[in-house]
Amino acid sequence: MRQFNVVVLGAGGVGKSALTVRFIQDVFVENYDPTIEEEYRRTITVDGQLDSLEVLDTAGAEQFTSLNEVYIKSGRGFVLVFSLTQEASLQEVDNLRKQILRIKGGDTTAPIVIVGTKLDLVNEREVQRATIQTLASRWELPFYETSAKRNWHVAEVFEELLRQMRIRYPAD
Ligand code: GDP
Ligand code: MG
Repeated sequence: MRQFNVVVLGAGGVGKSALTVRFIQDVFVENYDPTIEEEYRRTITVDGQLDSLEVLDTAGAEQFTSLNEVYIKSGRGFVLVFSLTQEASLQEVDNLRKQILRIKGGDTTAPIVIVGTKLDLVNEREVQRATIQTLASRWELPFYETSAKRNWHVAEVFEELLRQMRIRYPAD
């Protein structure tokens, strides 16, 4: 079993903690403290192979980009989170994406998955599927629309990321 560390990044309030806790503990936490940063661990079997994921749910405000730099340097895989109900939160995903490419180096592909959250809030939706589809294909990154509340497509995010990390970081 190998261990990979994953960093969950995105603007405040987009649902990073809800997504992380749903994946780790399979519960929906309605009001997770927005200032708490927590590292979780769980094992996961993908394509018949068991591995361990260490998931860091970050809580830093976006203006602390130097802190993001520390996270990015230490992380192997990244979940970049925005809310489908908040168009503006997409901008932070793009900023983070560029920061990751800059820090990790343009010649190597950093394992990244783009995640739109709160898919269940249909009436509050601001980001259309076509919009994120266009961006994700321009960025050449996989994306998922999820709901931590309903547990829609949450596991897929981490499974896809693990597949990418196995390719990017082959066993010695
Ligand atoms: P963070 O600041 O990015 O960690 O965001 P949180 O995980 O704390 O979530 C912010 C708010 O959005 C909370 O009130 C959550 O209950 C809510 N939320 C998060 N994910 C979902 C979801 O999938 N569906 C719904 N309806 N609400 C969500
Ligand atoms: Mg949080």
